[in-house]
Amino acid sequence: MPRIKDSSKLDLKLRINIVDVIARVATPRRAGGSRFKALCPFHQEKTPSFHFDADKGFYKCFGCGKAGDIFTFVQETEGLTFTESMEALAQRFGIALEYEEGGGGPSREERSLRQELFDLHEAATDHLHQTLKGPGQHAEWMRAYWTEKRRFPMELADEFKIGLADPTGSGLGAALMRKKFSEAAIRQCGLFYLYDDAMLTLGALRPRFRGRLMIPIRDHQGRVTAFTARQTDLTPKDDNSYEAKYVNSPETPIFSKSNLLFNLDRARSHVGEGKPFVMVEGQLDALRCWSVGLKTAIAPQGTSITESQLMLMRRYQTQLECFFDSDSAGQKAALRLLPLALKTGIEVRFLTLEGAGKVDPDLLFLEKGLAGYEEVKHGSFGGMQFMRRYVLPEAGQATAERTQQAVRSIYEVVASAESELLRKTLLGEIAPALGALQITPDVFERDFARFLATGGRAAAGPASQSLVNSPPSSGAPLSASADSSEPDSRTDASPADDADSPEHHLLFLLLHFVELGKPLAAALPHDWIEARRPSGTLLNRFLAEFAEDQWPGRDHLDSLLETDAERALVTSLLFESPKIEDPFKVALEGITHLRTRALTPRLHQIVLALAQASTDNTVDPGALLKERSTLQRLLRSPLALAPSAA
Ligand code: ZN
Repeated sequence: MPRIKDSSKLDLKLRINIVDVIARVATPRRAGGSRFKALCPFHQEKTPSFHFDADKGFYKCFGCGKAGDIFTFVQETEGLTFTESMEALAQRFGIALEYEEGGGGPSREERSLRQELFDLHEAATDHLHQTLKGPGQHAEWMRAYWTEKRRFPMELADEFKIGLADPTGSGLGAALMRKKFSEAAIRQCGLFYLYDDAMLTLGALRPRFRGRLMIPIRDHQGRVTAFTARQTDLTPKDDNSYEAKYVNSPETPIFSKSNLLFNLDRARSHVGEGKPFVMVEGQLDALRCWSVGLKTAIAPQGTSITESQLMLMRRYQTQLECFFDSDSAGQKAALRLLPLALKTGIEVRFLTLEGAGKVDPDLLFLEKGLAGYEEVKHGSFGGMQFMRRYVLPEAGQATAERTQQAVRSIYEVVASAESELLRKTLLGEIAPALGALQITPDVFERDFARFLATGGRAAAGPASQSLVNSPPSSGAPLSASADSSEPDSRTDASPADDADSPEHHLLFLLLHFVELGKPLAAALPHDWIEARRPSGTLLNRFLAEFAEDQWPGRDHLDSLLETDAERALVTSLLFESPKIEDPFKVALEGITHLRTRALTPRLHQIVLALAQASTDNTVDPGALLKERSTLQRLLRSPLALAPSAA
């Protein structure tokens, strides 16, 4: 039996709240902070002596002495082996497990590399903070930027160890080399660019961050695992990412941005009864909150909010207040959050200033301090109110298309609620607002039932067409090129899309059958895709999102679309209705087609070269023969596309 990877075990521990595990067997009661107690499931008792701790993830009974973690609890209460307990938990909480290929866990080296990476980040944090506090005009400039431009106190910089990456960036590498970190740690820490085959010398280390304000990113245990770097006037123009306001550390063995919430390590000990987490958009917003005494603020790492982040948050508090910029990016983020919150059982409210136009959290707290929080809390509203306010078109502006799209977004959000009861409540909350759009509650409810029955696929198709008198989208495959479908759009330099290409077909499938995403990303090497046309470019880009578990959902693709041609192509593909019985089968045909197209030209070349070799003694056919048989084997081997477990 294959062994489950240690990283999966860690993932389970990180994402599963022991309280949820124990709650299946015993009723938890709060016992202060992250501690709970219950009547012991292992011995008979009348007053609870079974204690457990959401934070630490373990339990101990002061009556019978039983103690352990989520795995031992499941083993003992359900009579399972250790591996079975992991599988049971993974299944119950919808977490995918990874198995070792050969057997054996991570080597001692891998384990100690992680520890070394933590140590390295601690050392880097100190170095960058000392640079900010040190002598020299750059340090002086950056301190002025912090206190005058950002209007933060210096004490806050000390508390969070805010730092300065000097414009040359050479100091950090030297400091770490002096501390004798291993080559592996320096290569994998993400703070430098270094070619794989380059010797590790100080000269070969090119710093990722230069002339930027450095914000250390800590995991929920308070260990620095990465940095976010803010662009400033000191950032050199030749910086690789000069244009980017914020640059983050890349993913490393100790940093995964989808598993991390900024400031969770501190905020988690300030939440509690009547004190929800407050989600703000950026790290500096969270620091602003902290500095005015709102200690429960957290921020996603980067723009996307993920299910893992919410699962992590939920270990400490199930109530969340969301305070995003009132611009459209903030609204989109909120809209992405809502279904995830419903799915993970988090109660979310949106903070807003009543009647105010644009609200910038940073400015609000800067001007009004904690009183600003009371003000926005007063004007807060729940998820469905948010949908009514920002998703439904106003009666006067409701075109059939906009209504249809809005209704589909609502369905998708409501469908993510796990319980029937909650769904009914949510639909009930939004139904009155639909009256103005000539949609009666019973039509709405019936239509939603159809949406569920078809697994959401009929959302933009026949089901919703019963709602509004929109012209039905033609079922015929769209043959027009992306450019011609929108005559007013800026002509793009890339060649027009070919609607008969496998890329075009796969993109269509991907947009309509989200369950294809992960398996396709796993099965399709990106170099089989012809990326010169928009459909190929998009296919590559979208599959990368699936591979990283970052797929935002097809209604939130704006951030992934870069040109008018791409937007036009996606819009037209979304309007086609799929008439496909087995999308996996069709996708498999597409991949097979791509493989043939990618590999056969080389095969033909080899056949020609071999023919030449037979008359030319200077050419050694050995390598060619080997490559030919490899290619032939690749072309013959059956391709598979399995639905993923998740
Ligand atoms: Zn006991």
